[in-house]
Amino acid sequence: MAEETPPLPEDLEAVRSALIEWYETDHRTYPWRETDDPYAILVSEVMSQQTQLDRVVDAWNDFLERWPTVESLAAADRADVVSFWSDHSLGYNNRAKYLHEAATSVRDEYGGEFPTSPAGLEELMGVGPYTANAVASFAFNDGNAVVDTNVKRVLYRAFDVPDDDAAFGDVADELMPDGESRVWNNAIMELGGVACGKVPECDGAGCPWRELCHAYQTGDFTAPDVPTQPDFEGSRRQMRGRVISTLKEFEELSLDDLGPRVRVDYAPDGEYGREWLRGIVSDLADDGLVETDRREGKRFVQLRR
Ligand code: SF4
Repeated sequence: MAEETPPLPEDLEAVRSALIEWYETDHRTYPWRETDDPYAILVSEVMSQQTQLDRVVDAWNDFLERWPTVESLAAADRADVVSFWSDHSLGYNNRAKYLHEAATSVRDEYGGEFPTSPAGLEELMGVGPYTANAVASFAFNDGNAVVDTNVKRVLYRAFDVPDDDAAFGDVADELMPDGESRVWNNAIMELGGVACGKVPECDGAGCPWRELCHAYQTGDFTAPDVPTQPDFEGSRRQMRGRVISTLKEFEELSLDDLGPRVRVDYAPDGEYGREWLRGIVSDLADDGLVETDRREGKRFVQLRR
């Protein structure tokens, strides 16, 4: 481990299974997630390096319709592949050339069969370490932990990993369950894409790591690619909204019954505890949105109706 890397939670199995369960319960569906054909996966990886995933879907379908196998792509005229790339606004045309080149080498040097390991895949023309690892993971379940910008953001926020490539690599490797690179890499990348984006949606997306997450606990959601605090979830405005929507479901609630419904890490005497909640509630009362009442030593809150 890199020296400055903070320790991970002791029960790593629970941390892993919470994320995998979250991913398997609901995730964005992309057609390349439904296949283990290395060729189709390689095409999706090369396309998505420059283009947003939602826009890749049509291009990917069209590409595979035109060149359904690695042999058909290898036999294609390179100029046609490049024109396809420009016609679909897929970014640098060089990627089309590399893809064609990779297909040619699979056909000519590997008898039409893709290598299965990251190192083997990296031997293909134009396939860099990231793409090789992605194909090894998603096609052969034989990859290493992916460390891309999304994953770094998650690790930095959740486990307070310093902004250092060696530290990210160490923590990512330690977290990934052995022999499960396909589901794991998909799951952690999905977390970074859906829940832990630049503007995180910790509660909205039901992040399974809220209770252990360093950022969620401290309220500091900066990250290597988010140098200043995003304005959003976790902000006072957001918390006010959550208090109101919770109170809509109840006649009234005491502060300690309201707190955990507003933040999963509410603890009466903690940083996000009674004191903090009282501040938000009293602002809402000043704005005429809620009423509070003190009985039996407790403060109760209800919507002003
Ligand atoms: S709780 Fe929020 S900040 Fe922490 S990992 Fe989940 S989405 Fe990211």
